Amino acid sequence: MSLQLPEQADPWRLCEQGKCYEGRVALQDLARLTSLLNFTGGEAAFTLAFDRDETRRPRVRGRVCAELQLCCQRCLQSMPLAVDLVFQLSPVTGLEEAERLPEEYEPLMLDEHLLHPMDLVEDELILAIPPAPRHTAADCGVDLTDYRQESAPEAAQQKENPFAPLRVLKHDNDG
Ligand SMILES: [Zn+2]
Repeated sequence: MSLQLPEQADPWRLCEQGKCYEGRVALQDLARLTSLLNFTGGEAAFTLAFDRDETRRPRVRGRVCAELQLCCQRCLQSMPLAVDLVFQLSPVTGLEEAERLPEEYEPLMLDEHLLHPMDLVEDELILAIPPAPRHTAADCGVDLTDYRQESAPEAAQQKENPFAPLRVLKHDNDG
């Protein structure tokens, strides 16, 4: 059974209660994410399942799917990035506790006891975005072979006589 995702909740309590949420969110409602997008239309589909594992450790298992429109850093055109992210978190309140987690868990670090569950969805999407997104060479608006051919002769010309202005100056002084 899936429920409406609460605005704010105590994650330990959600795990205790075994709550499971499934839904969709408009990307434009995720403010931190939209600042990284070229186009903010579209939605993300998510599942968040809170429970405890065999050792009674609280855990959050989630999945987020979306198609993000990034801005290619080479041609500055839109670049689609389809993501399907699966994650498993365990809420912790400090670094020591985080280090003790079994390796299959990522720590869900909480300063307060309350969590905005939608932040989990947004954080995963933000983490999925590469630092400098670029199309593959075949898809990019900037043709890399043209780019190289155009810029190469110019570079060679400059290299041919780097001291030309200097020589003129020197000549003037002599005369
Ligand atoms: Zn491009």
